[in-house]
Amino acid sequence: MVALLTLIPGHARRHQVSNTMSNDPSSYVRIPQRPPTSQEAAWIRDIVLANPDWADVDLGNLHVVAECGCGCRSVVIEEPPQPQNPKFLGHQGLVGEISLGINVDGKEDVISVLLHFAEGSLSLLEVVWYNFPQPIPATWTEISRHISVGR
Ligand SMILES: [Zn+2]
Repeated sequence: MVALLTLIPGHARRHQVSNTMSNDPSSYVRIPQRPPTSQEAAWIRDIVLANPDWADVDLGNLHVVAECGCGCRSVVIEEPPQPQNPKFLGHQGLVGEISLGINVDGKEDVISVLLHFAEGSLSLLEVVWYNFPQPIPATWTEISRHISVGR
């Protein structure tokens, strides 16, 4: 499945327009529920805190339930029984986005991290690596960070 996905041109581009797992189910592989990694949790926290519509929301315990099969580190967040932010029930969109300027082995690059919501709850943490299908680097040095928020 992974090998097949890497052969599909435009996979990364499709990520950028997908709002929920159901838009692009073939990319995401269900995994046993796990808590976000420290990196995922930090990205989520930074984006949520930057958006006044979300900063005060009690997110409860977040669980990652699926991962993109291409290795880009995009993850699907489990829908909680009650919406985290009921005023966004019936809506989906972006909570916000981090643009990371990174240095990998002396070369500068950019990674975007987009946090999506659906039906009032966080739904997808999407990592966009513009050099797809090259694999996203395992490690990097962060040299700049810009956060923008959705409305
Ligand atoms: Zn992917």
